[in-house]
Amino acid sequence: MQAIIDKIEGYKAEVKNFVATKADEVENFRIQFLGTKGLVKTIMGEMKNVANEDKKAMGQILNEFKIFVEQKFDDLKNTIGSNDTAEANNIDWSLPGTNFNVGTRHPLSLVRNKMVSIFNRLGFVVAEGPEVEDDWHNFGAMNLPENHPARDMQDTFYINQNPSWLLRTHTSSVQARIMETQKPPIRVICPGRVYRNETISARAHCFFHQIEGLYIDENVSFADLKQTLYFFVQEFFGKDVKVRFRPSYFPFTEPSAEMDISCQICDSKGCNVCKHSGWVEILGSGMVHPKVLENFGIDSNKYTGFAFGMGIERICQLKYRVNDLRLYSQNDVRFLKQFTGVV
Ligand SMILES: [Zn+2]
Repeated sequence: MQAIIDKIEGYKAEVKNFVATKADEVENFRIQFLGTKGLVKTIMGEMKNVANEDKKAMGQILNEFKIFVEQKFDDLKNTIGSNDTAEANNIDWSLPGTNFNVGTRHPLSLVRNKMVSIFNRLGFVVAEGPEVEDDWHNFGAMNLPENHPARDMQDTFYINQNPSWLLRTHTSSVQARIMETQKPPIRVICPGRVYRNETISARAHCFFHQIEGLYIDENVSFADLKQTLYFFVQEFFGKDVKVRFRPSYFPFTEPSAEMDISCQICDSKGCNVCKHSGWVEILGSGMVHPKVLENFGIDSNKYTGFAFGMGIERICQLKYRVNDLRLYSQNDVRFLKQFTGVV
């Protein structure tokens, strides 16, 4: 060990007395002492020859030596400068920099964010839940008992290992989880991905995205539902948009209605999207079925509520005139690039 210490003392003197007048010499110093084959590395390699009981003390000495050399190198650089200068590397700093490709938000994210921000302003907060659900939260609690014919409307993916688990077919399962854990007043929107066993085509896909809303409190009426949704479409599509409600059926709402808006593509003049009617359906809605409220111990004589749900892809189609659902998941940059300017 003493031999190594003597060696280090010798090197220290060498380092201390090292004088440089040019950047090249500073670089030589770096190579000689701190390079991958430099003295510091070599002397560190001596550790393996040191007896175990001396290793700790030796480690400290070596470390101090390394810091000593690095300090000297920094001093040299600061007084002389290193080779790392524009002149030495022949760099023209006035050249334009390398361009980075900045990505864009996915159109579905853009639309979802905008929808969420509109409902946020009305006091709705975002709620999320699992995509793999149990039968109760997805169906049972939503007034869709086993063998209910409406279950056929939603072809379901079941999990092989455990058939009582499934991929949620709608984001109503999140509403179920909210009603299970919170007491009214409840005012939430649930954006998320849902899955259905459908053949993939321009008009159908095995997964898509929904935003559902739920508002439960005392004295919530159908008028509140209409005004909320009217406010939403006006904010989203513009003040000129017209709406109409058509009676419909959903197991979890009573009464139920589908809402149409005046076709944004042809300005209600008639086109393929609105099937020449001037109207396009954008969402389903209704007053929460008393049975659903009772499923979660919410007194349906005291509280009422409304719920609605819409497909984000559908809204995106009307907003940006995307005619093929498959485009959203094909990851084709030629499609995605078209949304660069949208924020
Ligand atoms: Zn139209």
